[in-house]
Amino acid sequence: MNIILMGPPGAGKGTQAEYIVQQFQIPHISTGDAFRLAMKEKTDLGLKAQEFVNKGLYVPDEITNGIVKERLQQPDCANGFLLDGFPRTISQADALTAMLDEMDKKLELALNIKVDRALLLARLTGRRICKECGATYHVIFNPPAQEGTCDKCAGELYQRSDDTEEKVGTRLDEYISKTTPLLQYYQDAGILKEVDGERDIDKVKLDIYELIRGQSI
Ligand code: ADP
Ligand code: AMP
Repeated sequence: MNIILMGPPGAGKGTQAEYIVQQFQIPHISTGDAFRLAMKEKTDLGLKAQEFVNKGLYVPDEITNGIVKERLQQPDCANGFLLDGFPRTISQADALTAMLDEMDKKLELALNIKVDRALLLARLTGRRICKECGATYHVIFNPPAQEGTCDKCAGELYQRSDDTEEKVGTRLDEYISKTTPLLQYYQDAGILKEVDGERDIDKVKLDIYELIRGQSI
């Protein structure tokens, strides 16, 4: 299955991606994770990306498209992939279509996790991530057994520098102006499916499994 996972920042894409990739055995490709890793390692890509990521702005399309194109050509994407956080603009979506055409592939499902803006601020400012394995928690909605420590690998949890109230506002504005038009784009392509992301993590997960299974029959 070739799937894109959509939804505003804080909708639960990363949380659900962890389950989807285990259940369906496809690689998880997150442009946000790729930028954070490059920034941590201070590579050329990281240095270019950080001036945008640190302000809550989208990284320019040319930079973002390049990393996705390279990643999709890796052999582990042969039987499908889960793109998380890409595409985020119409021009990225066009570039993705062109990349897939070149590889004789097509997108089968655009899965949109719907959550109202009012909830997103609380979700994002309470988010904590494991430094070692990248697992996602929430101080109230999905806390680890021991505060500050990952349940899965005992790694230390940290807060993303763009999960502050001020930057969340900019990120949500970027999403509304640049990414919401993509919903119509994939609706027109006939592959958009939506789930209510305001329910418990496990309920959202089951809905998503059902949609993916329905799509692959
Ligand atoms: P995204 O990748 O879309 O930005 P995340 O998966 O990182 O979003 O989720 C944002 C925050 O909300 C995290 O702290 C996560 O634990 C929490 N979260 C995710 N899904 C739910 C849910 N269904 N109910 C409550 N909290 C959730
Ligand atoms: P995320 O982890 O998906 O919340 O992304 C974190 C940040 O990385 C975003 O706020 C952007 O600055 C940048 N980013 C991630 N994916 C993209 C994309 N597809 N296009 C532009 N910028 C992106």
